[in-house]
Amino acid sequence: MSQSPALDILIAAPRGFCAGVDRAIKIVELALERHGPPVYVRHEIVHNKFVVDRLRGLGAVFVETLDDVPDNRPVVFSAHGVPKSVPSAAEARGLDYLDATCPLVSKVHRQAERMIENGRHILFIGHEGHPEVIGTFGQVPEGHMTLVETEEDARSVAVADPDCLGFLTQTTLSVDDTDAIIAVLKERFPAIQGPKGEDICYATSNRQAAVKEIAPLVDKMLVIGAPNSSNSRRLAELSERLGTPAVLIGRAADIDWDWFGTPASVGITAGASAPEILVREVVESLGDRFAVTEREVAHVEENMTFKLPRTLVA
Ligand code: SF4
Repeated sequence: MSQSPALDILIAAPRGFCAGVDRAIKIVELALERHGPPVYVRHEIVHNKFVVDRLRGLGAVFVETLDDVPDNRPVVFSAHGVPKSVPSAAEARGLDYLDATCPLVSKVHRQAERMIENGRHILFIGHEGHPEVIGTFGQVPEGHMTLVETEEDARSVAVADPDCLGFLTQTTLSVDDTDAIIAVLKERFPAIQGPKGEDICYATSNRQAAVKEIAPLVDKMLVIGAPNSSNSRRLAELSERLGTPAVLIGRAADIDWDWFGTPASVGITAGASAPEILVREVVESLGDRFAVTEREVAHVEENMTFKLPRTLVA
């Protein structure tokens, strides 16, 4: 009988669920307990099919617009945040709504409002079309915020008054890319104001730092996360940049074994919206084909939690 090839598995920590995702999922679960199904959710509560399918099984109904929510049912807004027009429309219809926007995204919304109050035009660093970006643009009057996606954009963006500028960022960007973009903006517009560093959240930066730690130690990297999960995509990109071939997979069944081959070692991480059960599933799947040894490489310990809305815990 031939022996299975040996494989060292290094599991990055922190990985997987962040405090904002945990809170958003609990809000849907508690709303289902309190109101009974169906509870409507505007957009995927977090970008993960496994999470969304599980909540759907409990009675959540996912829709993209408020028009699809009946008058007599509660609706939850996703962790990515929504433009101001969405809660306004919900109020106008008398809908019972719960806002699961991550508090760290809400913080960026408040920063945007303050910058506008102070007469600044905002250069917003983020990815066009991402729900968080749409939500943050929707916090300020049209024309007061310009999207900057790349260093090239930062070099070419035209502004009316270079002395009255601010910058803000999406929470789930590449730390390194964002630092480079901010450096260009600061060089071009020395009076620009912004948060200390950027608005990239603790979970995004910790997961990237953990990948930086294990990528040089492994032959391949498996990143568990959805293709539309910004922070998960950044983890795979980062590993590739560090020279370690990486692939983003939804779950174990997505592993392309021809691509995977027979490496001596593999790193595993998971984006902030991917549950730990999917990490274990991947480890088990590797264990079916290889003689695995497994260890966790901890970059930092996370113990962040966010309060739930009072209406759900009272
Ligand atoms: Fe909040 Fe960051 Fe998690 Fe997004 S990734 S939900 S900003 S903690």
